[in-house]
Amino acid sequence: MNKKTLRDVEVRDRRVLVRVDFNVPIQEGRVTDDTRLRAALPTLQYLLDHGAAVILVSHLGRPKGKVVESLRMDPVAARLSELLGRPVRKLDDCVGPQVEEAVAAMQPGDVILLENSRFHPEERANDEAFARRLAALADLYVNDAFGSAHRAHATTEGVARAMRAQGKPAVAGFLMEKELTYLSRATEAPDHPYVVILGGAKVSDKIGVIRNLLTHCDRLLIGGGMANTFFKAQGYAMADSLVEEEAVEDARALLEEAAEKLVLPVDLVIADAFANDARRKTIPVGDVPDGWRVLDIGPQTLERFRDALEGARLVVWNGPMGVFEFPNFAQGTFALARLLAEGDAVTIVGGGDSAAAVNQSGLADRFTHISTGGGASLEFLEGKTLPGVAALDDR
Ligand code: ADP
Ligand code: MG
Repeated sequence: MNKKTLRDVEVRDRRVLVRVDFNVPIQEGRVTDDTRLRAALPTLQYLLDHGAAVILVSHLGRPKGKVVESLRMDPVAARLSELLGRPVRKLDDCVGPQVEEAVAAMQPGDVILLENSRFHPEERANDEAFARRLAALADLYVNDAFGSAHRAHATTEGVARAMRAQGKPAVAGFLMEKELTYLSRATEAPDHPYVVILGGAKVSDKIGVIRNLLTHCDRLLIGGGMANTFFKAQGYAMADSLVEEEAVEDARALLEEAAEKLVLPVDLVIADAFANDARRKTIPVGDVPDGWRVLDIGPQTLERFRDALEGARLVVWNGPMGVFEFPNFAQGTFALARLLAEGDAVTIVGGGDSAAAVNQSGLADRFTHISTGGGASLEFLEGKTLPGVAALDDR
């Protein structure tokens, strides 16, 4: 990685502003899933162990530039305090005199959590003056919010530039470093054989990912709703299946350009309604009967995918193989997860729903890396520059 990290800078006795991704689900004033808080702990523990004072900032939900009581960070501070085993002081704003006073009084080992950055419209507008005020709070900026790195907002992008203008470092945290290190294996000098598996709802969401990864991989397996559009391009009737008419031309072009790399399903699980308790049938690829829709890949397809994965050294997976939210149509997705968990390849998963599916499969610890950043991981796999990363100091 060509960006500086925490290890490259002095943190002792410094005030460190850390952009974290604490956009967590909250119900009745409690954090109901603390995965994102835990993901930031290596960075936070390192800073505290090395004598820094830590100022945390994150967005939470979509308050649209004004204070929304239910989106205050207090429940996050409470849970983080339990995880760190030390007090976390939560402030009621992220800039302003109260914040400046509290920060000025910090000692090494102190932790402050600033209020939801999106209470200010300046956050999403990436307002320069706002970014300068944030930067002025600290001696050092650490970005550990990989999941927000594809957004050029004040706390993810503007503040890094403001730090540099103030002669202060802006570096990557350990979660950010880990994400970039693993995801870059997909696009920079990957190990071969390299197999990419794509699924999920739409071709149009993923066309950039398909095109970029096709230039690197040896095989590209396609499943999920996305495959329907390819079958449509091949001339099959897809009945009530999810098909994107406007992406049929793209699919046709890909079928021609990349015929030798593409592996499509050979059988499909269809349903007579979009519901878990719908009637089910497994059919070979062909016309889907009227009134039916494709909701999963079939067992022959899994055999075909198993063959295509044989000997792979690197596998990148994005997109569920079916509507895994319905247990009756989750088999293709979970069987694929088992296939990857049992293999010897390095396995990297990107995408929010894909990560959720792998977590649900109970096999998450058998994967090499499951990205914590949904949209950010997709933009990375598309080969786009993430503004929150680009703004950090180069090595
Ligand atoms: P990710 O978030 O991992 O990038 P996507 O958002 O592209 O994945 O796709 C996930 C969604 O795709 C899931 O909600 C799933 O139900 C849906 N999906 C998968 N296969 C089908 C299908 N055959 N028909 C309709 N929806 C599907
Ligand atoms: Mg998704």
